[in-house]
Amino acid sequence: MENNNSKPHAIMFPLPYQGYVTPSIQLAMKLASKGFTITFVNTEFIHHQIITSSQPDYSTVDGGSGDDDIFDKARDLGLDIRYKTMTDGFPAHVDELVGNLVKSDPSVSCLIADTFYTWAPLISQKYKLVNISFWTQPALVFNIYYHMDFLITDGHFPPQYNLKDTAIDYIPGVKAIEPKDLSSYLQETDKGPHEFFDKVFKEVKSADFILCNTIQELESDTIFALQEKKPIFAISPQVLSPFGFAKSSTVPTSLRAKFDCSQWLNTKPRGSGLYISFGSFISPKKCDIEEIAHGVLFSGMNFVWVLHHDAVSCEESCVLPFGFEDMIKDKGLIVPWCNQVEVLSHPSIGGFLTHCGWNSILESLQCSGVPLLCFPLKGDQITNRKLVVDDWRIGLNLCDRKPLTRLEAADKIKCLMSGKSDGHELLEQVIKVRQTVGNAMAKDGSCEKNLHQFIVDVKVKIGERII
Ligand code: UDP
Repeated sequence: MENNNSKPHAIMFPLPYQGYVTPSIQLAMKLASKGFTITFVNTEFIHHQIITSSQPDYSTVDGGSGDDDIFDKARDLGLDIRYKTMTDGFPAHVDELVGNLVKSDPSVSCLIADTFYTWAPLISQKYKLVNISFWTQPALVFNIYYHMDFLITDGHFPPQYNLKDTAIDYIPGVKAIEPKDLSSYLQETDKGPHEFFDKVFKEVKSADFILCNTIQELESDTIFALQEKKPIFAISPQVLSPFGFAKSSTVPTSLRAKFDCSQWLNTKPRGSGLYISFGSFISPKKCDIEEIAHGVLFSGMNFVWVLHHDAVSCEESCVLPFGFEDMIKDKGLIVPWCNQVEVLSHPSIGGFLTHCGWNSILESLQCSGVPLLCFPLKGDQITNRKLVVDDWRIGLNLCDRKPLTRLEAADKIKCLMSGKSDGHELLEQVIKVRQTVGNAMAKDGSCEKNLHQFIVDVKVKIGERII
């Protein structure tokens, strides 16, 4: 049987959630375009969701069967329980599948698994596969988790013993960061997530390569520092085409049916609309939703608001104020899900109120050019806000750790849409950062170069494994 390292065969395992599936599919397509054979593994539930959601008749989408899917059942549970579903039972299926694939032609030679899959090193070792870990959050967040032992030594972690609110200025490649800007999982006193992240970042140390969905120029210090320890490559795999973001893609990635907002947006003046989305997973608290809703109304802006009812609220269920939909008249469009990239690219959109999900930030930078209003909810979103507001200065904070009021929300929205704040020319800064991202993603940019180097190195590693 041919085991040709010039045409590697990789088996890929994304985490079964929207924010992980999309960049993994994009990575798979990118690698396939460079000659890789890819076996892409989705759970039944995710596969069903993607297939039904991509049907042209929107009304036929029933939300998926999903009853037997452990991941979906676990989505509203605590992080530790959610991730337990990835470690109990699942690896045995992976083992069986990979065992069969190594007998295929071309034989599988690489395992590309999400960094959170802690079983990846064992399976890779068993089948002599090159172990590639895919990190779909910023390199900064990776770097901080990677150095959890530094946080412990310096008394910044675990938080129950944390008497310090001093800046963390000892992580290689990370300029001083306040404890409040760490991932929420490093700030919570709950031990489950701590043990989980500890395991994840112990296991990732044995990966052969780490791929990070980021832009090197935006995180160069942290990436250079990490490269001293591991071969890590910044390759934002998202596909840009002359026709716009992701249009060249024929592979559906959405887990929900997308409402077409274009007709409505076409009737609105240039730059007049705010796009509001809190991502695929959780929702703000009911009281915050209420203040934001009134703030949007007070601001007088047009808006598209993605509000899907299966999002898990931080507290109570996520509902708009009574009568809101009547009050907005033609000012706003509330949709359960949309093509975010298309909405962000529409000329009538002038600002993005976001939970700071990493995909949303990257998409906004790649296909839009609007400033961000940041309302982070959980996990890496807390640190992502710092990058957007403090480091790149392309966004404003919607909440500064005090209860949000509708007047504050209205003021911030108006300020955002005018493109100016505290003397910082938000829009000018967005244009600069977009230029950097555009250069990085160009044909001769850092993403392509890094990907090329990664492929060269992988082939060498495969060669070493075969011998
Ligand atoms: N998204 C979408 N339609 C929507 C809202 C979101 O397609 O109406 C996509 C968005 O383009 C992004 C993903 O859902 O790719 C959300 O990922 P992100 O990392 O921003 O947040 P998460 O959902 O993981 O918290």
